[in-house]
Amino acid sequence: MKKILIVGGVAGGATAAARLRRLSEEDEIILFERDEYISFANCGLPYYIGDVIKDRQKLLVQTVIGMSKRFNLDIRNFSEVIAIDPKKKSVEVKNHKTGETYTETFDKLILSPGAKPIAPPIPGLAEAENVLTLRNIPDTDKIKAIVDNKKPQRAVVIGGGFIGIEMAENFQELGLNVTVVEKMDQVLKPLDFEMAQLIHQEINANCVNLILGDGVDHFQNQGKEVVLESGMILKSDLTILAIGVIPENGLAKKADLKCGPRGHIVTSPDYEVMDGKTGKIYSDIFAIGDAIEVMDFVDKTQTAIPLAWPANRQGRVVADVINGVTTKNKGIQGTAVAKVFNKVVATTGNNAAQLEKKGLDYQIVLAHRANHAGYYPNSSNIALKLLYDPKTLRILGAQAVGQDGTEKRIDVIASAMKMDATVLDLQDFELCYAPPFSSAKDPVNILGYIAGNIKDEVYKTVEWFEIDDIVEKGGFLLDVRTPMENSAGTIKGSVNIEIDALRDRINEITIPKDTPIYVNCQVGQRAYLAICILKGNGFTNIFNLSGGYSTYKTAHYKIAKPDFQVGVCVAEKSVIEDDDVDKGGNAIVIKKKVDVTGLQCPGPLMATYEAIKSVDAGDLVQIIATDFGFVSDIKNWCETNGHTLISQETEGKKYISVIRKGDIGTGCNLVPAVSTQQNATLVVFSGELDKVLASMIIAQGAAAHGKNVTLFFTFWGLNALRKKDGKGRDKTFIEKIFGAMMPKGANKMPLSSMNMLGMGSAMIKGIMKKKNVDDIDTMIAKTQKVGVRFIACTMSMDLMGIKEEELIDGIEYAGVGSYISSNENAGTTLFV
Ligand SMILES: Cc1cc2nc3c(=O)[nH]c(=O)nc-3n(C[C@H](O)[C@H](O)[C@H](O)COP(=O)(O)OP(=O)(O)OC[C@H]3O[C@@H](n4cnc5c(N)ncnc54)[C@H](O)[C@@H]3O)c2cc1C
Repeated sequence: MKKILIVGGVAGGATAAARLRRLSEEDEIILFERDEYISFANCGLPYYIGDVIKDRQKLLVQTVIGMSKRFNLDIRNFSEVIAIDPKKKSVEVKNHKTGETYTETFDKLILSPGAKPIAPPIPGLAEAENVLTLRNIPDTDKIKAIVDNKKPQRAVVIGGGFIGIEMAENFQELGLNVTVVEKMDQVLKPLDFEMAQLIHQEINANCVNLILGDGVDHFQNQGKEVVLESGMILKSDLTILAIGVIPENGLAKKADLKCGPRGHIVTSPDYEVMDGKTGKIYSDIFAIGDAIEVMDFVDKTQTAIPLAWPANRQGRVVADVINGVTTKNKGIQGTAVAKVFNKVVATTGNNAAQLEKKGLDYQIVLAHRANHAGYYPNSSNIALKLLYDPKTLRILGAQAVGQDGTEKRIDVIASAMKMDATVLDLQDFELCYAPPFSSAKDPVNILGYIAGNIKDEVYKTVEWFEIDDIVEKGGFLLDVRTPMENSAGTIKGSVNIEIDALRDRINEITIPKDTPIYVNCQVGQRAYLAICILKGNGFTNIFNLSGGYSTYKTAHYKIAKPDFQVGVCVAEKSVIEDDDVDKGGNAIVIKKKVDVTGLQCPGPLMATYEAIKSVDAGDLVQIIATDFGFVSDIKNWCETNGHTLISQETEGKKYISVIRKGDIGTGCNLVPAVSTQQNATLVVFSGELDKVLASMIIAQGAAAHGKNVTLFFTFWGLNALRKKDGKGRDKTFIEKIFGAMMPKGANKMPLSSMNMLGMGSAMIKGIMKKKNVDDIDTMIAKTQKVGVRFIACTMSMDLMGIKEEELIDGIEYAGVGSYISSNENAGTTLFV
């Protein structure tokens, strides 16, 4: 009979105890837990706070009495192990109920003390009663009490890790105005940036404010104000500090056990601890769970992965080792999953950022595929990214963001990795298929096929972060999507020849056949076909843009401006119900409803186009989609085609947009969301300094009054947007001459009167300087900064031979349709 002591009674400790008993009926097993509860569901805590799990009792997976009886254990809660003597094989225990301290000897000792939230000495933290961390049931009770009794209106979550994001979601579901503050430029570190951007979009789409690249400087006013390093002050009734965890290593350090650079207990492959000075293994003492360093499965280096699966697995393995059963320790992959509103995010292995840091070579495969057959209702898109070693083809990691079936794909890849499968083996994985679940070619197979293409040198890949630079330096980017998809957004400098016209128009591609040619479509699939056509026509140096325009666009997503209004969710604000009425009491009737769930780009756009075509100007069309990319596509498409996007809302897994057909005459006061004369539009037609100056002043003033201001630059006004040294590509001789005659930028413009061969203009600039008035270039930049939209009229640009690359950054290019839509409900319209 062995006497086995366990420190810590939750994930690792409770698992070890149960397994030990199964393996031996006779051993004496004593489990010490410092707190009241053992074996509770840490992972369920955020959902209890958010009222998703209603019954607190359900969090208590096992009780002290229940588990003691079932497994014949001596469970001592409120009992903290305060010292270990590894040589004498004894521990000192403090009973927190009685205050008594006693010694207990052991044959075997298992340490599973977990990890605690990081709470650095931030100024003002000690005085802040509403700033809390979340680890266990007492923490949960405290947070829940504030939520239930104090009815907070605003919550701030500091830290964009899994726990922080889960808390943000749950607070939002409770109706709080929530702000997540994250020091890095992205949330959820196991994801690479472009994958995290999908989550940023989802967070914003669900009305949670996201502040990235900023941290907490201090708390003030008893924690009611969170002051960020940038100086921004956030009001908060309840703040959660979720900036990570550190191992509970006090006991181990006191016993002089070996700890790693970040304080985790170092163990042998069988989880035995070591002497801190000599490194000698103590073969009767084991450590598991969040407190220990583990071997990274990918490169066998030491790391730390505070997750429930490793803690549970290690609990079982240690019980086996104690009973003479050994298992090969292959290392930990860090396979993880989380729900973020309507999205599922799942990861395994290393991401590109980690591999980069380790100096390991990797090839990226990106795919966007439907989770099940598109023709079966409610299919949704999964974005998948897989990394593998280009030499050995060993899979190094994978990430996925989608809806149903997302984690299943990562589970398959995680299993493949553990079994040392190569990326090409994924082609041959025979996975479940029927229309409600997958496609005959599962997304996991597709990753294998793409890797196969890369290996067989059918094409090389180029990444979203490389392509702008390549095009700017003169690289040829061929976009094979339809013109309609192009009108919803495109990569600057790309040449559009849609796939179905490529064979006929191949002669338009005049670059030498061995010059690199970069091809993109929406997700990479049509680009692959285009590449085959190009190859068949002699082109030899072809690249496919990984993940297509979809990944490029997501990577360039701009975080929404925070909205701290309580009780208002922008997405909800604009919901139109069937029985809504306009200001005049007339029913708002949606003329056509189009369900494009399951369709991927360009499907939803095509269906929208058809629907809009079939209704009259002023009619409303509702589009129900599951493709998240459609949310921003439709916005751009409406703008460039002169329609008005009335509302966008999220309902479950669906994105519902309502569009009003453009070119409306009378009777268009239908919709409350746009009937508030919130817009101000200025048409900047003149090419004179004082008029452009006046436009900027008026625009800034209108923006300051909360108006959505649009400056529509047309004809001579376009010159105000020209860069000092901007050069246009592919200009005709006439265009070049014309361009040289026109002023490059507002600074070079004359005055409308008293110009006196430029003297008047110089004088006014001098006076502005003296009176500390911003110069015109600064004024233009400031006007853009306050959110005024700058639209350059593409038709005038064409007539005047002005090219996009000649104009300043941050402007939109559109036709009169956009001007018209921005002019809807404009309280102010000026022609300057
Ligand atoms: C809010 C939250 C959500 C989470 N969600 C997920 C998730 O969705 N998926 C996932 O994989 N992981 C999740 N985790 C992480 C997961 O819970 C941990 O990885 C896991 O519990 C670690 O197990 P452990 O045994 O190492 O530590 P724990 O489960 O934390 O148990 C350690 C126990 O040891 C006790 N203890 C410490 N020192 C002593 C001592 N000296 N004497 C006696 N007792 C002591 C502590 O009181 C504690 O109860 C979540 C964690 C939290 C806090």
